[in-house]
Amino acid sequence: MTAKILIVEDEPAIREMITYNLQKADYETVYAENAEKAMALVNEALPDLVLLDWMLPNMSGIEFAHILRKDKRTKLIPIIMLTARTEENDKVKGLEVGADDYITKPFSPRELIARINAVLRRRSPESSDEVVFIDALQLDPVNHRVTVERHEIELGPTEFRLLHFMMTHTERVYSRGQLLDRVWGDHVFVEERTVDVHIRRLRKALQSVGKDDLIQTVRGSGYRLSAGRATNQQPIIHTKSTDQ
Ligand code: CA
Repeated sequence: MTAKILIVEDEPAIREMITYNLQKADYETVYAENAEKAMALVNEALPDLVLLDWMLPNMSGIEFAHILRKDKRTKLIPIIMLTARTEENDKVKGLEVGADDYITKPFSPRELIARINAVLRRRSPESSDEVVFIDALQLDPVNHRVTVERHEIELGPTEFRLLHFMMTHTERVYSRGQLLDRVWGDHVFVEERTVDVHIRRLRKALQSVGKDDLIQTVRGSGYRLSAGRATNQQPIIHTKSTDQ
């Protein structure tokens, strides 16, 4: 699953440099030149990570980060602050408002990509390329393959993304709206019943290998992937590649 990065930066040259390098590293990018536009984009669809310039016209990056952290829907979006400031005080302020990391300008594309990868690995495991195992079920994001003891399960792209998200966020209940936000990236234009349709398809595919009970319906709340009362197994995430 390609991670979508929102770049909030008012300087066109820096914005273009970042966009170019992120796209080269296979990230999907969107940008805003100020916090107001960034807010509008976030309201439409949640990004997987926000690269946020500190010094912006009108609302500062710090204020915007503060708003994202206060809202239940956006509080978990990983944020990396970009700044020309080097004072230790500012760094502390940035981290206090809830930024996950902090990059001082000027930075190299290599450093930028490494920091983004590190934060995503930590915060959005479904955006990483690591193979996930749960209860004999194995999902490989690189080859787009789901297998149980060498039997391959055929899944459509949406069911694959849905399963990937749920396998990396086990034992938690997600509402239909939350799943639309996190898996479809769109909670505005996609109807909630769409989630039910894809859950049904996913269960049917898992049923062929006797694993459909992994996905549980929680009445009035949503869905949960539970590794099973019997095994009580935690997801094991294996690092496959040694990317930078
Ligand atoms: Ca700026």
